[in-house]
Amino acid sequence: MRRRVTLSFDNGPDPEVTPRVLDVLAERGVTAHFFVLGKWLADPARRRWTVRARDDGHLIGNHSFSHATPLGVDRRADAAEREIAATEALLAPILPGPGPKRFRPFGSGGVLGPQLLSRVAVEHLVAHGYSCVLWNSVPRDWIEPDAWAARALADCAARDHTLLVLHDVPGACLAGLAGFLDAARGAGIALVSELPAACVPIVAGRVVGELAGLVAP
Ligand SMILES: [Zn+2]
Repeated sequence: MRRRVTLSFDNGPDPEVTPRVLDVLAERGVTAHFFVLGKWLADPARRRWTVRARDDGHLIGNHSFSHATPLGVDRRADAAEREIAATEALLAPILPGPGPKRFRPFGSGGVLGPQLLSRVAVEHLVAHGYSCVLWNSVPRDWIEPDAWAARALADCAARDHTLLVLHDVPGACLAGLAGFLDAARGAGIALVSELPAACVPIVAGRVVGELAGLVAP
């Protein structure tokens, strides 16, 4: 079967980078996922770019409010409310219709581990009907903005369906994005918007995958 890659962009919206990422995607007819931060949505000058992403047909998800302390190590009793629910309250007027809410946890440079979620956070995601969207490739665009694309292409060649984590923030994926997309297409890799099932352990509030190792004890 033809290899596939799904793109996701985390930590925006950024007023300089997000519009340029959207331009690159639009020029190539690629639909992606954007996991946004509540602290940026609160700023109308940034929020407008998430509205454009929606209008361009991209899928928008919640990536916490502050992106400060991963939920698995956040000791605040109301962390799920302050990080997940507060961001969703800002997203709700932007998102179309009642579709499943998407949440992507963060922490430790993309390492899948127990720092990502707490039991309370999982209960919150289940109770409120979220899908929890993880990933299977983190080419570290924020550390090597000129070299991530080669690593991402290698990841795409190594598995059937890659869910790539990139960042629409300054000094990250933008410089290599157009080249990556053209090289992926040139290599016969399909650019798709579906999520690999193995990367979505909670679907619309139902735990369908393995959470062991992703939730703090
Ligand atoms: Zn992040």
